[in-house]
Amino acid sequence: MKDLAVALTQRRAQHLYRTRTTVDAVEGVYAIVNGARLLNFCSNDYLGLARHPEVINALQQGAARYGVGGTAAHLVCGHHAPHHALEEELAAFAGYPRALLFSTGYMANLGIASALLGRHAAVFEDRLNHASLLDAGLSSDARFKRYAHNDIAQLQGLLNESSAAHKLIMCDGVFSMDGDIAPLPALADCARDHNAGLMIDDAHGFGVLGAQGRGVLEHFQIPTASVPIYMATLGKALGCFGAFVAGDEDVIETLIQESRPYIYTTATPPALAEATRASLRLVQTEAWRREHLRDLISTFRHGARQLGLRLLDSATPIQPIIIGAAADAVAASEKLRAQGVWISAIRPPTVPTGSARLRVTLSAAHTAHHVERLLSALEGVA
Ligand SMILES: *Cc1c(COP(=O)(O)O)cnc(C)c1O
Repeated sequence: MKDLAVALTQRRAQHLYRTRTTVDAVEGVYAIVNGARLLNFCSNDYLGLARHPEVINALQQGAARYGVGGTAAHLVCGHHAPHHALEEELAAFAGYPRALLFSTGYMANLGIASALLGRHAAVFEDRLNHASLLDAGLSSDARFKRYAHNDIAQLQGLLNESSAAHKLIMCDGVFSMDGDIAPLPALADCARDHNAGLMIDDAHGFGVLGAQGRGVLEHFQIPTASVPIYMATLGKALGCFGAFVAGDEDVIETLIQESRPYIYTTATPPALAEATRASLRLVQTEAWRREHLRDLISTFRHGARQLGLRLLDSATPIQPIIIGAAADAVAASEKLRAQGVWISAIRPPTVPTGSARLRVTLSAAHTAHHVERLLSALEGVA
């Protein structure tokens, strides 16, 4: 084992020590921490559905009916009617023949790479892909290639050079730390031209992008046939927990037969599937949440520019403010917290060195007034 005490001390000295903040209670968009009431701008509850009464009620009713635990893996006796119904509803909504639930997005990504890539494959990933997507590619048997962020020319070069029998491009739909949307039409063309597969992780786009919230494909009006493997999570805009993969019959059946993170784990609680079904209905019936969110995003961007803050080119609820040094980002986050505003500092290695940031996330649960408060707290801090 490595010298743990030395490694921890070093980490602390570099301002990279990670700590957890305990939330004692939640009151709408406020988190109660150590007796302080913090206006929360760092959750991924983009549509404000995590506390929706219909979602909570579905969870309670589901628990009364099915109990708490899934009690076994899906292939043993854990696969319940609510899971099955949710899979069918997710497939229909995303526009694919089938969908398969995974316990988490991290596991879904590992499960896709391990089951669908063999030793003769190569996987191509954007450098800024989410850690779970990078880990999935790295831990698979395939050769692993990375290209600079959104650099389609470099991707083409790597695909041209590759002699692998099978090629798969794996990419975030919305980049989780920058908030920008992947150039999906170019990626789809590139995949087609090089006879490569394309997998999109739409953790931050599903529910948010597109008029109906179907995600990044709807945003670009790209047919699902261009993206044979689509993955999204249920713990962000849907306010629940878990993830799913959508694809055709062969993709989904292969995952069921061979994906170890799918096979060797306990099914998520059936009641959770009931809650997620309620949330998916709200995604479809309450389009005002997306419209309100878009208004908040433009209010925030307009105000932040007037304050001279360094924003990135993001049209999504992820609105990072680049600070630079890790220590400065932490100090800014602490100052904001003293003013009752909670924005976590994101530091290397999660983001490249020198680009530590305050990662602001907006939610349909926020009001214009909350965004005004955020902006006045940011004035003089960042
Ligand atoms: C959050 C996230 C995941 C992981 O999903 P979990 O369900 O939280 O494990 C995967 N990919 C991206 C892009 C994410 O943002």
